[in-house]
Parts: sequence; C-alpha cells; structure tokens
Amino acid sequence: MLDHTHDPKARSFVASANGHPDFPIQNLALGLFERNEDEGPGMGIAIGDMILDLEALLDQRLLEDEVAEAVDAARFLEGWADFLSEGPEIRNALRREVFALLQDGSSHRAEVGAALVPANDCTLYVPMRIGDYTDFYAGIQHATNVGKLMRPDNPLLPNYKYVPIGYHGRASSVVSSGTPVRRPKGQRKPATDPAPSFGPSRNLDYELELGIWIGGGNDLGEPIPIAEADQHIAGYCLLNDWSARDIQGWEYQPLGPFLAKSFCTTISPWIVTPQALAPFRAAQAARPEGDPKPMEYLWDRHDQAHGALDLALEVFLVTPGLREKGLPPHRLSAGHAGALYWTPAQLVAHHACGGCNLRAGDLLGTGTISTEAAPGSLLEITKGGREAIALASGETRRFLEDGDEIVMTARASRPGRASIGFGECRGTITPSA
Ligand code: MN
Repeated sequence: MLDHTHDPKARSFVASANGHPDFPIQNLALGLFERNEDEGPGMGIAIGDMILDLEALLDQRLLEDEVAEAVDAARFLEGWADFLSEGPEIRNALRREVFALLQDGSSHRAEVGAALVPANDCTLYVPMRIGDYTDFYAGIQHATNVGKLMRPDNPLLPNYKYVPIGYHGRASSVVSSGTPVRRPKGQRKPATDPAPSFGPSRNLDYELELGIWIGGGNDLGEPIPIAEADQHIAGYCLLNDWSARDIQGWEYQPLGPFLAKSFCTTISPWIVTPQALAPFRAAQAARPEGDPKPMEYLWDRHDQAHGALDLALEVFLVTPGLREKGLPPHRLSAGHAGALYWTPAQLVAHHACGGCNLRAGDLLGTGTISTEAAPGSLLEITKGGREAIALASGETRRFLEDGDEIVMTARASRPGRASIGFGECRGTITPSA
C-alpha cells in the first residue's frame, strides 16, 4: 500500500510545500476551488500554499490516458463525485501522476507552474455535492460523558457496544470552512420555565468530528461487506457538528436530533485521501474486557489490524476579547481518531447492512471525538453549562457567544514519515436573524 509517493524525503519544486504542516507533496488533498467567478469552480489539488488546477493540466495534456479521461468526464458532470465513484485505482493513478509532475526535478516544471494558483486568492467550496449526510455517535468517551449528565450511574445504553449508533442528518446546510454560522432560533425550555419559548439558542456548542467521504456506493438492497467497506471510502475531512443544546434538550425526546443540529455543519474543504493516510493506519484499540465482540457483519481481521487512523485533532476558541487583546486562541479540545469505538469501515458496513444505498458524495460524521482530559464539546467541558471556562482575556464561556470562532485542525504524524494535515475547519458565530 505504501509506495514512492509516501517517501518522507520526497520534495516538490513548489517551495512552500516542503515542510508544509498540512499539504506537503505526500498529501495531495482534493478540493473544489474558484479563483474568479467568470471561470466557475474547478477541481484542484492542494500543494503547500498553492492549488494545482487539474483542468489546466488537462488542457496542457499533462495527464495520461485513463486519468485524463476520468478528469475530463468528471468536470462536465459532478466533479469529484464522478471521479471518485470510479474507485481506488483511478485515485491512485491520479496521485502518482500529480506526484511526478510536482516533484523536484519534474520535467514539466514550467507547464505545471502555470497551472498553480495561490490558495489565498481562491474560494474553497464543499468539494462534492452531498447527497446524504449521516452522523454517527462512535466516540465512546463522548457518549459516556453525555450519558453521565443524564444518567450518572448508567451512562451508556445497552445497545451502544453492539450497534454503531447514528441518525440521518441534513445535507443542505453543510458548509465549507469560513462560512459564518448564524445562531439558530428555535423552541427552548429551561427546566425552571413552566413552558417553552421561541428565540435564539442560548446554549450553542460545537462537536469535534471526523468526516468520511463516500466514493463508490452500493446498489439499493445490496449490503456492503465489511471486508470491502474500506474501498467505498474516498477520503476524510474535519467536521464541526454545531449543536444548539437548549433546542436539542427540548426536541430530542423521543425521536432524536432535528433542528438542534440541522441549522449548520462546517467541514474542512479538502478531501484527504486514504492513500495519503496509508502511513497512519493503526490497529483498532482492543475493547475493554467484558465488552462484546462485534457481530460477524462488523468483524474483519484486516480492518481490526489496520482500520483505525493515527490522527491528532485539536479545537481552538477565538473570542472577541482574545482578539482585541492580541491573546492566542484558547485550546478547548484535543482528541485522537483512535478513540473511536468503531472503525470507519464498520460505520460504512453498518450503514448499508439493511440495504440502504450509499452514493458518491455522501458524507458520514463519526460522532464527537473526546478524550477524558480534553472532551470534544462544551457540553462535556462545562458539564452541561454548569462550570464556566475562564479565558486569559477575562471572559468566561459556558457556551458560544456571538463573534466567537471555533477552529479545528487534524494532523497525522509518525516517526520516519512526512506528517500531513487536513487544513482548517473554521466558523464564526453571527447573531441570529
Ligand atoms: Mn454529532
């Protein structure tokens, strides 16, 4: 699975790529960018502080047969969703070709250079049209922390260790990093109030999650076997599942998340491919003694040995007060993708086990990723809003205020490997309408 494109010594002639925290030549993340409105959005690849314009490469005939055909077809159809639905082989071929073109000593340096645009001059969009968005609940520490707030003696419900819990979310309000997040209005009912009222959410929260992009889907009625589930994953991103806890608390029973979640979900715009993450695969953590073994349709030896990701995640808060005083962002959360109770492949296999068809461009959230020391949401950090956080600016927070910005990052690093990142997933809260 590892090849010369993972060589930690490989360098690009794009100077900013070498040692870049997110996008060295070993990453080659896929995105949908727009430099100016006349040209419209196009397929691009992140390299250092630049974006490689794939359509410009195509016009210069720098892509070879199959890859050129696939990019050419995709650009007139659904972009990355079409390209990625072709499966892992064409993804790998694109990676190898682009790697060769961008490498130090590339024989096409001048032409490739002409296809590079500064990322700062571009708008980055949600990279594929999302057909369906599903949010899981696979962070067991998060599920335990939240469960404890409601059921101190029995935080996890009995199904948790058997079923990868999830719900169908809302695709239309998934936005790309940097899009302002308007505080939602809805019905809220504090325990002390006799009746609910309608108004802006007072308990606005974030959730640190990993997003999983589906490449090739399955036919309706045809489950995806666990051993093949990995092949359906086209990439990963960061995902902030903004949550209005007061709206959630009132509407949640007995059906589950609805308007408390559907007002906005922010993702990082780059698709980090499974190939880029190949050096950072890890064994799924052994389940604690006494936990049930996953059922047959969720159990695969290879997936257990290599199906988890060695990925460090962080969340920072920037408030108006911190900004005004020139103080650094406040680190709220530090998670690790290895803390998930189910592997991405198990989430895919479970999603399709009843015959539900996944399609290219579908997005799955893993669920909030928490560690005991640094949970992935304010709900957990402030114990449901009871314990305020004190900031260096003198401000305090129980939940997010207007003007607050949440920034998430993800980094994969291992000794002897070139570390890669996901780029940022940011959003600032604006006052409700
Ligand atoms: Mn969530």
